[in-house]
Amino acid sequence: MDKTCVEIAVPLPVDGTFFYHVPPNLVEEIRVGCRALVPFGNKKIEGYILGWGRPTTTCELKEIFQVMDAEPLFPERMVPFFRWISEYYIHPLGQVIQKTLPGGLNRPTYKVAWLTEEGFKCLEGGQIDKHDRKILETIKENPGKRVGLSLEVLKRLERRGWVRLRDHKGRPKTGPLFRTFISARETVHGPRSLEEIGIPLKAKDEQAFLEFILDHGPVMLSELSKRFTNARYLVKKWAQRGLLISQKRPVYRSPEGIVFHTGGPPGKLSRYQEQAVLQVNALLEKGRFSTCLLFGVTGSGKTEVYLQAVKRAIEMGKQAIVMVPEIALAIYMEAVFRSRINTRLAVYHSGLSQGQRYDQWMQMVRGEVDVVIGARSALFSPLPRLGLIVVDEEHDGAYKQDVAPRYHGRDAAVARGRLENAVVVLGSGTPSVQSYANCSLGRYRLITMPERVEHREFPEVEIVDMKALAQAKDNGDILSPRLMETIADTLKRGKQGMLFLNRRGFFRLYICRFCGTALACPNCDVSLIYHLEQQKLTCHYCGYECEPRQECPKCLRSGLRSWGFGTERLEHELKMHFPGARIARMDTDVARRKGRAQSIVKDFLEHKIDILLGTQMITKGYDVPEVTLVGVVGADLSLAFPDFRAAERTFQLLSQVAGRAGRGRERGKVIIQTHNPDHYAIRAAISRDYLGLYQKEMELREQLGFPPFTYLVCVRLQGNSRARTEQSARYLSERLKKTLERWPKRGKEIQILGPAEAPIAKLRGKYRWQILIKSKSPYLTQRLLRVAKKSSASALKTKGVQLILDVDPYQMM
Ligand code: ADP
Ligand code: ZN
Repeated sequence: MDKTCVEIAVPLPVDGTFFYHVPPNLVEEIRVGCRALVPFGNKKIEGYILGWGRPTTTCELKEIFQVMDAEPLFPERMVPFFRWISEYYIHPLGQVIQKTLPGGLNRPTYKVAWLTEEGFKCLEGGQIDKHDRKILETIKENPGKRVGLSLEVLKRLERRGWVRLRDHKGRPKTGPLFRTFISARETVHGPRSLEEIGIPLKAKDEQAFLEFILDHGPVMLSELSKRFTNARYLVKKWAQRGLLISQKRPVYRSPEGIVFHTGGPPGKLSRYQEQAVLQVNALLEKGRFSTCLLFGVTGSGKTEVYLQAVKRAIEMGKQAIVMVPEIALAIYMEAVFRSRINTRLAVYHSGLSQGQRYDQWMQMVRGEVDVVIGARSALFSPLPRLGLIVVDEEHDGAYKQDVAPRYHGRDAAVARGRLENAVVVLGSGTPSVQSYANCSLGRYRLITMPERVEHREFPEVEIVDMKALAQAKDNGDILSPRLMETIADTLKRGKQGMLFLNRRGFFRLYICRFCGTALACPNCDVSLIYHLEQQKLTCHYCGYECEPRQECPKCLRSGLRSWGFGTERLEHELKMHFPGARIARMDTDVARRKGRAQSIVKDFLEHKIDILLGTQMITKGYDVPEVTLVGVVGADLSLAFPDFRAAERTFQLLSQVAGRAGRGRERGKVIIQTHNPDHYAIRAAISRDYLGLYQKEMELREQLGFPPFTYLVCVRLQGNSRARTEQSARYLSERLKKTLERWPKRGKEIQILGPAEAPIAKLRGKYRWQILIKSKSPYLTQRLLRVAKKSSASALKTKGVQLILDVDPYQMM
């Protein structure tokens, strides 16, 4: 192989990769997956080595300065996967890799400053305001040091010619953790040598201390200090006499796995489990890529199938990734796996500290891990021998990442499986319409488990029609009398309950209090949302808008009322009504505190909590036998969500929530409070009619041209100025349309909707507009967007407007 040039991806917003010349003295150090310091423009940056190669065009190549890592940060096998993510989600390759790697690896850069001659003069007697004088004085006293000022201020001073600035690279925030280890010199062995030493061992525990080290080999100093109070003294003494040596060595920060009572292995697999295991194992034996959808109702024992599959993969010398939609579930899954298979297991999710993530990561690259359990980001686990990817609860929207690269964990898992010849198992009790459609197209193999294990019964589902209640009691309560009474009964019998409330309360929605209709867009079959700023009702898809109204479009009475309450208010109400009960709330606000989610899950599993209420975070996964009641407080909230997936999501949520009840011996009870007892999604959830829901959804989506019948990209523009953001959106949409006109044949396959102001018109100080692109072919859209992105880049930049491309969007707010 020609070892003179390497291909490098740089973590900058640029298209494509770059080639650099490798000086002969660095050839030996070049490894795919290491970082290299390279010149880029007039800067030095760290890029990722993708492989040997040379550019197709001949041109003068720059040389790399330095290889930054002694060992690779990712295996070579993953490079095609990174390229796929970059292409499909239209995001620069180097930035994809950077986002994937554990944070803190990159050295932070900051500005250091010196006074110029001009600056000194100015201080000595020039016209200068008090504030600037103070800054200049600080810089004068700390030349070449970091200045705690904004870049803007520094640049201003530089423009005036008072200071000189330079980039400085700080130390990386994370890296291996070192600890002091104490060991005996190699010449010393066993108790005999202690005798040979011949010196009377007088100090306290001195003999035991030395024996301990001789028996155990290198021991961490902190460990010794725990055992021997005078350890530090003894180490020093014997190090001076040449018996002991102390060395720094890297250690792994062990992420604490909480031990749950996960229940032992089942006595016997159910008939369906057995068949599922056989099928998955057969696919594993083939050693080729394939995807199967494990459609097992809640309580059918899917976890057991995952476990068996992972075991098989490990026996075959391969590695596995098990993905779950949320951290809390990762912790639960970890506990199950740890208690069931004795293997080298790593966990990877954002709940770990930066250092822990780094350690887990490096263990994976080195091939020292057999199975990785984690949330979405675990998909990027750098495993060199990947053979199996399990995506549990594949329908879950949490798999979609909402910052760039905006990948979908499930879809990307299938792509990775294809590129690395792995088997992909997608599991769900309520498969996504998309995955089920892929089964009917023959792309995925369908494996079904329609019964609960041990013939456990499904819970009894009861509907409370809140519409009727609201009429009776003008101010519709959060909790119906029926639900209250059942909670009281559950508490009295010492059982546990879960209450689910979809929290999305930050906007109001409009529901008719007479007929239960939620106000919807005439074009899109999605709900209209009230925007206070414009005082208009708008559609988040097509940009349709109208005046706010009270009159219900269906029954024509003025019954439209704004609606909205969240989990916090629910918690408050519950605590008021049931002062003696142990009540806990779990939602993203709560889970943000480190370790909080873990401890709530643990307490709930140990029955230290009677009622757990929360958002979708509580709807999936945990298997708590004592839960006999599940209450759904507002089933309609997700239905009115401005999204073509609203009905699908509602069905999934309700089915998943209901599935939490009665996992033990006692039959569970589910109470659903709804204003739409007749909606097809709610009906389907109650009667567990997945196919009914699927068919209805497919019909609607075909009519309206939504996925899986089309491929969708949401193009968002955001900027500090509303006018300039709007102008940019119009400009870009024109450009897109013009480009399409130039593709006479294929251009018709793409539809451009908008621009429209984003439903959340201003977010984090930025004004937002969006354009929706619908097409039959992802490749065509990707091409179109790449062209548009390039040609509009400078125009957008001068307007201060940022362009965001969301491929397969899950939220268009
Ligand atoms: P799912 O994910 O399909 O909803 P789980 O995998 O959580 O279901 O399993 C539900 C419960 O059934 C768990 O407590 C599990 O230990 C138990 N279980 C699984 N398989 C069996 C079996 N074959 N016999 C008895 N219990 C089982
Ligand atoms: Zn619309």
